[in-house]
Amino acid sequence: MNQSRRWLIVLALPVVFVVAAGAMRMASAVKYTPVDLKPLGNFPMDPLNGSDKDIPARFRKLDGHRVALQGSMWGGFSEQRTENFQLIYSFPHSYGGPPLVQERVFATVPNGGSVQWRGELVTVEGTLHVGILKTGQYVASVYRLDVDRVQPAALTSTNRGLFVAARIAAVLLQLILGFRWLNRLQLRRRRLSNRLCPECGYDMRASGSRCPECGKVVVDYWPNQIQI
Ligand SMILES: [Zn+2]
Repeated sequence: MNQSRRWLIVLALPVVFVVAAGAMRMASAVKYTPVDLKPLGNFPMDPLNGSDKDIPARFRKLDGHRVALQGSMWGGFSEQRTENFQLIYSFPHSYGGPPLVQERVFATVPNGGSVQWRGELVTVEGTLHVGILKTGQYVASVYRLDVDRVQPAALTSTNRGLFVAARIAAVLLQLILGFRWLNRLQLRRRRLSNRLCPECGYDMRASGSRCPECGKVVVDYWPNQIQI
């Protein structure tokens, strides 16, 4: 095995490793079902006497599911980090007041964790719990979410796929450039050892310090090259 081949393997191994690790991470990634936040709260419910029966069945079915919700963080004071917040579709509400209780997803970061507070539109991934919880007489929450991750919405879903594709393309490009560079290096070395011009491959055995074909000054390559 010649030296260039060895270099190829040394260069390619980490790239193969990175690509394989990325593929494994994508394959093992938890899948979150995207759920539209706006219709989630769009049903009538008496905040005093409301019960689970008021929640449409298609929303009750989401209980315990891993979901991705897009909305705005609300209910805090723009702290740097927070362990709980509410996720809402819009504020103020279309009728001018605050969102109804069924229009809020009460998000909590489990195990004492916290997330960065974000003012822009976010995508929140986590496990959704559906069902009415009361504080005294009043419905305190309908939707609760155990948060796994909060990201700017611009970074998620299709965009994340694009980022992954771009990263793979960058690795491939780097690989191609690396191969081309190694090929050129190898060709140049072969030409020099055969006393051919390293630039164009012209036979320099009978020529002087300059390649008559391409003009390359070659006097430094072979110490006993004829000086003309
Ligand atoms: Zn030449």
